[in-house]
Amino acid sequence: MKGTFRPDSLTAERGMPAWLATTMNFCTRCGAPLRFGLLAAEDRERLYCQTCGFVAYVNPRLVVTTLPITEAGEVVLLRRGIEPGHGAWAQPGGFLEIDETAHEGAIRETVEETGLLVEPGRIVGLYTRPQAAIVVVAFEADIVGGEMRTCPEALEIVAFAPEAIPWSGIAFDTTTWALTDWLRATRPELLPTTRPEPISGRGHVR
Ligand SMILES: [Zn+2]
Repeated sequence: MKGTFRPDSLTAERGMPAWLATTMNFCTRCGAPLRFGLLAAEDRERLYCQTCGFVAYVNPRLVVTTLPITEAGEVVLLRRGIEPGHGAWAQPGGFLEIDETAHEGAIRETVEETGLLVEPGRIVGLYTRPQAAIVVVAFEADIVGGEMRTCPEALEIVAFAPEAIPWSGIAFDTTTWALTDWLRATRPELLPTTRPEPISGRGHVR
């Protein structure tokens, strides 16, 4: 998942990342094999079913995350207990469920992973990673209750002062980007100039 992966290379594997293409073989309506090609009234090639006409649209999933901020102005990060990013630091978050709002999903994921009850506020940033087929939204969030506790997904949970953010041990580019954007809005004097660039650079759509 490293390196540049831009939308103009998405057609390499039926219009999507190869790992995702391997999961899209059969029609979910009738079970017949899917084909990939141009359809009338479509502006790009699509996966479709020749038997029943079903078009299998493939879109990114939304990952809802928070940057929980303590009263002292620290940002809460967790050390991940699962892959991807096992052992590295990230903000709490996860996939939005189909029956919840983005705010609800952000609150749910944060309490599940950290024990903290938060109230999401402004959006720090919105980050697209085509190679992972995700869009990550990061909310700045007030901590309004709960108590920090670890779980299998979070080996350690720490409130970091802005000066102490563990930049060299961050799990995801999107975490680096969100923390950078949060600092830019809150403590711009702390933005280091020598920090390593994210692996795939900052070529995301904002
Ligand atoms: Zn079908």
